[in-house]
Amino acid sequence: MSYLKASISQVDGSLQEWIVAIQDAPSLGALMWAAWRLARVLAVKLVEEELMERAQRPTEWPKCKKCGAQLRSKGFVERYLTGLIGTVRWERRVGRCPHRCKIGQVAPLDTELGLQPNQRMSAGLQRAACALAVFVPFEVAAVLLSLLTQVVISPVAIWNWGQDAGQEAMARLQRQLEALQGGEMPEPEEMEATTASLPLLIGADGVMVPFRPHGGQPNGRTVWREVKVGILVRLRWRMTRTGFDDLTQALAWIAGIQEILNLALPTVTEPGPGSAAVARQLAHYLGQLADRDDLRPWLAQFRQDLWALSERYWSGLFHCYDIIGLPATNNAHESVYGQAKRQLRRQRGNHELREPLLRYGAWTLLPLEGDSPAALRERLARVSKEEYTAERARYERRQEQFRQRYRWRHHRDAQLRQRVTAWTTAISGC
Ligand SMILES: [Zn+2]
Repeated sequence: MSYLKASISQVDGSLQEWIVAIQDAPSLGALMWAAWRLARVLAVKLVEEELMERAQRPTEWPKCKKCGAQLRSKGFVERYLTGLIGTVRWERRVGRCPHRCKIGQVAPLDTELGLQPNQRMSAGLQRAACALAVFVPFEVAAVLLSLLTQVVISPVAIWNWGQDAGQEAMARLQRQLEALQGGEMPEPEEMEATTASLPLLIGADGVMVPFRPHGGQPNGRTVWREVKVGILVRLRWRMTRTGFDDLTQALAWIAGIQEILNLALPTVTEPGPGSAAVARQLAHYLGQLADRDDLRPWLAQFRQDLWALSERYWSGLFHCYDIIGLPATNNAHESVYGQAKRQLRRQRGNHELREPLLRYGAWTLLPLEGDSPAALRERLARVSKEEYTAERARYERRQEQFRQRYRWRHHRDAQLRQRVTAWTTAISGC
């Protein structure tokens, strides 16, 4: 037997069966698999051994949070944690308050190891599960994770971790935004030297937006068009004094336009200025810019672009000042679309969205974010059985429509024959 195999089974006899499995493996695949399992068992044993050693060291007992007395040992209690290598078990001292304050059992070694009370899964495992759940539904994430690590986790647990991680990320973002408002810049992320040296970075994405077929007319069938949203970033501060002045001027123009477009939208009681007045003001403002003949090239180009952009969107820009309830931008609708996209991906694993949106979209938008399974159950319980049955029937009718469409598209001849047969039967008695 090779030196490594021999020494492993010599050190720990219980590993002999894994060594045998390696020796008996008929194919390279089986050989790798057996070796991998041995490696996992070894890893768990190594960690357990180390933990046992640390648990034996003298414990420094902290003071009771309630009365200040020094905690006293109550002996060793078992603890386990599941990580990417498998489940690790060890025993460590736990202590209680000598005055019986209700602070529960305290395990200083847990704190030292960075464990949370009641934590059963390692942070690495949770991170891996959440990362998978970003791309596939929770059920699939659970299956993939057990394929990759042999660790079995319920989809609900992954859902909960995702919720926790999301909430933590939102809180972090909130803290950064608040700090930014206080004038404190966020910590810049590490950047590769090649990226940092680029003069300009461009990021872009597209969203589908509904349009009317004839500009300015409310009638006609909706036409979906992709609107590209782009962001241009300069990473380094490369601006001269005059460049800065130009930029300030450009921003002032944008602020001027914004002020005009921010005029009041109509409500039932307040009609507001109306589209004609707003359009007139904007036209006047843009016209004024033409009087400037002292502009440096960059600013002259910017003015040109500003005119071109306004002209392109002019016909659709002012309806919101006439029609009560029409929002000035479609940002809110875009977020609804994004939400539907996320939910469809989570619930059904769809990536191609056109057909699923038409089929299930109306039933997909129940907002779920931030709700625990218990809260969700409570919300669903508010729907009566009758309402649920009615909605379910509506859903079934919708699906039936799509099934019919599918049959018509893919099995047209069979459909026609069926219709003809039905027709023949119907008129045979006449
Ligand atoms: Zn106490």
